[in-house]
Amino acid sequence: MRRLIICSVTLFLFSFGATKSAAEPIFVPRATKVADNIYAIVGPLGQRSEANAGLNANYGFIVTANGVILIDSGASAHSAAMLEGAIKKVTPKPIRWVLNTGAQDHRWLGNDYFAGKGAQIYAMSGTIRTQQGSAQQQLDNLRRFVGAQLTGTTPYFAKQVQPSPEASLIIDGVRLQWIETNAHYPGDTMIYFPDVSVTFTGDLVYVDRILGVLPQSNVRKAQAAFIRLVALAPKHVVPGHGRVTDLMQAKRETGDYYDFLIKNIGTAARNMDPIGETLDRFAKPGQFTHLQNFDELHRANMNRVFVDFEANP
Ligand SMILES: [Zn+2]
Repeated sequence: MRRLIICSVTLFLFSFGATKSAAEPIFVPRATKVADNIYAIVGPLGQRSEANAGLNANYGFIVTANGVILIDSGASAHSAAMLEGAIKKVTPKPIRWVLNTGAQDHRWLGNDYFAGKGAQIYAMSGTIRTQQGSAQQQLDNLRRFVGAQLTGTTPYFAKQVQPSPEASLIIDGVRLQWIETNAHYPGDTMIYFPDVSVTFTGDLVYVDRILGVLPQSNVRKAQAAFIRLVALAPKHVVPGHGRVTDLMQAKRETGDYYDFLIKNIGTAARNMDPIGETLDRFAKPGQFTHLQNFDELHRANMNRVFVDFEANP
């Protein structure tokens, strides 16, 4: 009898566990209108998974006279097709131009899918350099999260190479200004469309969730790029993660956080204050604690900034 109870408890826990992971809703990408002929596809805020197909970031597209410009191509051939499906609900025009804002897996691993359908792929030279250096590692990591969805995905590097750190171009009559930020990854960029006053910031800006500082991130370059973003004064901001927003929210939840890290943690490192004491002192900054992922990321973010400023005061 006792054994039976243990068994059914185990079974219960097991099925609960299984239901829990299956409970993440299947993400269906949907276009949100930002301005005339310009749309965002806002991905979920959590980690990569089969349920979200690795599309846990933001994308965008612009409908031009003769086709569609897509910003960021998805995490795989599988997820690229999902983005294409969302665009088809808005326009029957073909995706003819794909722009990568960064080198993280979900920004560019769908390139090959669109290139195979005749799209021209654009990226800045610094972005391509990072993509080339990390492609294999990204595929290996991503496979752990999305499994068989990665089948048929081949890294494809842009042939339309734009000079870093800044380029202006016109694609099918649409003007854009392309600016390197080097914020989250080396070679990260943002793209500004002056005629509709929209900036796709890539991983320079996160709203609704706290940004992550990785070993390859650079908060000093991020802070400088954020100042540049403010100077562009876009009416609409499509962040790398989180809802489509304006400069105010971007400043409160990202720009102010870069300032906070540099002013407090950077300064403490320069003064050679003890690291543990410093991280404790700034553990709960009230203006940021409401952001999703705060508990998981804030301390590690401070730690990385401290180490960076210690090594490069
Ligand atoms: Zn990102």
